[in-house]
Amino acid sequence: MSKVLIIGAGGVGGVVTHKCAQLPEVFSEIVLASRTEEKCKAIAAQLDRPIKTAKVDADNVAELTALLEQEKPDLVINVALPYQDLTIMDACLAAGVDYLDTANYEPLDTAKFEYKWQWAYQDKFKEAGLTALLGSGFDPGATNVFTAYIAKHYFDEIHELDIIDVNGGDHGYPFATNFNPEINIREVTAECRHWENGEFVETPAMSKKATFTCPEEVGTYNIYRMYHEELESLTKNFPTLKRAQFWMSFGESYLKHLEVLGNVGMTGIEPIDYNGQKIVPIQFLKALLPDPSTLGPRTKGKTCIGCVVKGIKDGKEKIVYLYNIKDHQDCYKEVQSQAISYTTGVPAMIGAKMMLEGKWKQPGVWNIEQFDPDPFMEDMNKYGLPWNVIELDNFNLDN
Ligand code: NDP
Repeated sequence: MSKVLIIGAGGVGGVVTHKCAQLPEVFSEIVLASRTEEKCKAIAAQLDRPIKTAKVDADNVAELTALLEQEKPDLVINVALPYQDLTIMDACLAAGVDYLDTANYEPLDTAKFEYKWQWAYQDKFKEAGLTALLGSGFDPGATNVFTAYIAKHYFDEIHELDIIDVNGGDHGYPFATNFNPEINIREVTAECRHWENGEFVETPAMSKKATFTCPEEVGTYNIYRMYHEELESLTKNFPTLKRAQFWMSFGESYLKHLEVLGNVGMTGIEPIDYNGQKIVPIQFLKALLPDPSTLGPRTKGKTCIGCVVKGIKDGKEKIVYLYNIKDHQDCYKEVQSQAISYTTGVPAMIGAKMMLEGKWKQPGVWNIEQFDPDPFMEDMNKYGLPWNVIELDNFNLDN
């Protein structure tokens, strides 16, 4: 019996709240707080059981601390934006509450995708006896746990990791992003980095392309190598990795729009002067694009996200692929959301459940692959993200 406070009432916040509400034996009390309380109320109205809602500015530590002291939750699930990670962690320390998020802290003015700011909280959380779980979404999140599970059960030593994120869904818009447009576009336009022989190697954004055929007839897609934040923690926590890469599928229309928007400066994160006012181009673009939380009813098709790992077992090389396939419309029927928010929100709920049940509770700041993957993997099967694992005879994306 635990009380959880969820911060952020966007696409992911909606799914986490639905999933926590489905498990009253774990999440006996739920508070959903966000900048715009009407959005919290709209999510609350979709549920079968009552929850509390609140308005909070998550950039403001004092306001957050006051809310935490008033509500006294056992855990905060942060599904606001990466810009708020540190203020929410500060408030958790001030009020003595455990913390979980799904994306690393990002400064507003530079796209970094680094854990250094949050890892710097290690001693503070340890001394306070509090647990902070970082990156409990799908990628980062489930993909880190998949890697840990494969390393634990299938190999003596892992050498190569390819995380492949395919979204075979179609929302019918010429251009829309499946999660927060600002974060999505920052991620996709950032310089690519992958791990090669003990260091990160930089290449231009989207400069390496491959084709990948998903299992179970999901289809064949163009995938592009890009940097993704879990590469930083996974290469640190699995030092035997010689190569680690992240790939994501993109459609032609998405890429064409992104190129044009980039060329005209609409994806910029530096403020510009417009009629005496400061405007950040990417924030203005966000205001024009469809809200990701409204894509649910119109998105059809499936996601297929997983990890291919090469390594050694009993002196022999082998290749293992562990993946989840999720149907957008099935997600919509269950929680009124498309699969991108669903595949993020369910691992956030499961990570929270792990902490509240005491299975993943250890003072300090941890990336998700640092805990035992087994109970999380069991719950993925139970709560809507069943996975499959197969051995491959060969695997090569250097085409
Ligand atoms: P949305 O933009 O849909 O939702 C963000 C929510 O946070 C909105 O409700 C917004 O409020 C609220 N918010 C923003 N700023 C503040 C603030 N200062 N105070 C209080 N509330 C605030 O984003 P998503 O739901 O798509 O994504 C949520 C998080 O999940 C992001 O951090 C994203 O990076 C992460 N993510 C992680 C993935 C993974 O697999 N690990 C995949 C997808 C997303 P308002 O409605 O007023 O704007």
